[in-house]
Amino acid sequence: MDCIFCKIAAGEIPSNKVYEDELVLAFYDIEPKAPVHVLIIPKTHLAGARDVTADNSAVVAHVFEVIPAVAAKLGVTDYRIVTNNGADAGQTVDHLHFHLLGGRVLGEMG
Ligand code: AMP
Ligand code: ZN
Repeated sequence: MDCIFCKIAAGEIPSNKVYEDELVLAFYDIEPKAPVHVLIIPKTHLAGARDVTADNSAVVAHVFEVIPAVAAKLGVTDYRIVTNNGADAGQTVDHLHFHLLGGRVLGEMG
């Protein structure tokens, strides 16, 4: 499958890693929208939030377990977690990912 985030997870495309374990990878977004902008992805391919089921949701729980550690490593206590699902919602990479945004006052959701 021609998926850029699968390739990043496999190490075939380089990324600036923040955290990695057997299930998930966190790396800096290449076009940061905030002073702190990291993406957290499951290493297994799910196209987006729409693909989450009872059979695979453990990896999503694991993403949320590592988020506090990632945030602490980045030095942010206040942050926003965003998942865009579908093109009309702004999803440009069809591999489930969670944006961790922080480092400035983010204001209300647009
Ligand atoms: P979304 O638009 O929600 O699908 O988010 C995709 C994000 O992936 C965007 O914020 C892009 O800047 C980011 N991105 C795309 N390619 C790369 C890459 N090779 N390394 C890091 N971030 C990337
Ligand atoms: Zn993928």
